[in-house]
Amino acid sequence: MHCSNDNCDPLHFDLVVVGASFAGLVAARTAAHRGLKVAVLDAKKEPGARVRTTGILVKEAVAECDIPAALTRKIPGVRLYAPNHHYTDLYAPGYYFLATDTPAIMRWLASEARRAGATLMFGARFENATLAGDLVHIHGLNIKTRYLLGADGAKSQVAKCFSLGRNREFLVGMETEFEESPTVDPDFLHCFVDAQLAPGYLGWVVPGAGLTQVGLAVSDSPFGARRKPDFTKFLERIDSHFALWNCEVKAKRSGPIPCGGLVSPLSTRRVLLTGDAAGLVSPLTAGGIRLAFQYGRRAGAAISEYLQDGGADPGALMARDYPRFGLKTWMRRAWSAAPPNALLNATLFTPPMRALAQWIYFQKRGNGRNSQRPKNANAYPSLPQ
Ligand SMILES: Cc1cc2nc3c(=O)[nH]c(=O)nc-3n(C[C@H](O)[C@H](O)[C@H](O)COP(=O)(O)OP(=O)(O)OC[C@H]3O[C@@H](n4cnc5c(N)ncnc54)[C@H](O)[C@@H]3O)c2cc1C
Repeated sequence: MHCSNDNCDPLHFDLVVVGASFAGLVAARTAAHRGLKVAVLDAKKEPGARVRTTGILVKEAVAECDIPAALTRKIPGVRLYAPNHHYTDLYAPGYYFLATDTPAIMRWLASEARRAGATLMFGARFENATLAGDLVHIHGLNIKTRYLLGADGAKSQVAKCFSLGRNREFLVGMETEFEESPTVDPDFLHCFVDAQLAPGYLGWVVPGAGLTQVGLAVSDSPFGARRKPDFTKFLERIDSHFALWNCEVKAKRSGPIPCGGLVSPLSTRRVLLTGDAAGLVSPLTAGGIRLAFQYGRRAGAAISEYLQDGGADPGALMARDYPRFGLKTWMRRAWSAAPPNALLNATLFTPPMRALAQWIYFQKRGNGRNSQRPKNANAYPSLPQ
């Protein structure tokens, strides 16, 4: 498809997107629909390969790009566990999360971008590029483009190549997929607060789309000490609730999650970052997929207007548009101090902490007073505490 020899005639595009994932594919679809000649480069072999996410979507993510319902499963509530195994249930009326068949969603997003007219190149790793005049020349792949969008994830090579802002603070996430287990109540995201096992974030058990996902993420300590997730210990910790020890392991994954807020600078002439590459991840929930959809699409539209109609510089526009996460970044840094488990046990279910948890998971979408198990949620037996 592409010529890797810089002596061949280069391929010319209006927009090259690096990264065929949530942000890049949505941006490519939007720009191609608007008439740009678009290419998407990705180092992986095919769209559903090497998924590095749990893939939970908030309800609003569907509104951003009409994900087919058949690839998702609704989860109405959150069950929050204290270190001493006590738990509380949180809901917001009418609200839900979605577990997803993430590889299938990736393939669907790729087919949407292709259908809009974008050229998708897999097995095409972006290494280096330079700007000459109004064209970015991508070396090695011998491609020239009028604009380059870096949607290449937490450790963006586009950001490195153009000396743009880089993510500096990360959570480290680790997840195993098991076969679907009847011991996991499907009406909840099961979230485990534990300063020993998941300092700075959480552990989770997700009744996924046809499987059970178990993971945890940790942050480094605010005093600089490295922390690593201990998955075996976490499995032991949740054994009394879910007894997953005899379930077949289907897949394992791990990866960095940016949690330090927006990078700066976000752009230079003819080059812009979006998605994880730009630091577009909520520092509190570590969710980045909805933001990737929302701002990937905006970036695609802004680049189209810039190239076609002399619109405003996309970098300047997005610097105003992308969220900054100021308060959330500081709250997450405080959480990374990992208050002792005894304190968490004593305070987690007090009204102020419950209200805080309700806000983190549901924000303005509901309030603690109304948080009842919805009528359509199944009554489901839990293992004894
Ligand atoms: C363990 C874990 C669990 C998570 N769970 C959730 C969750 O449940 N819900 C949620 O909302 N968020 C979650 N996140 C965060 C979420 O996955 C990211 O925010 C989201 O994937 C960002 O999408 P993106 O398109 O910006 O980048 P990515 O999904 O990171 O995609 C980047 C793409 O760029 C490609 N690429 C990278 N470098 C190059 C290169 N040099 N050349 C060519 N291609 C390249 C990669 O192959 C990849 O396809 C999780 C993250 C992790 C690590």
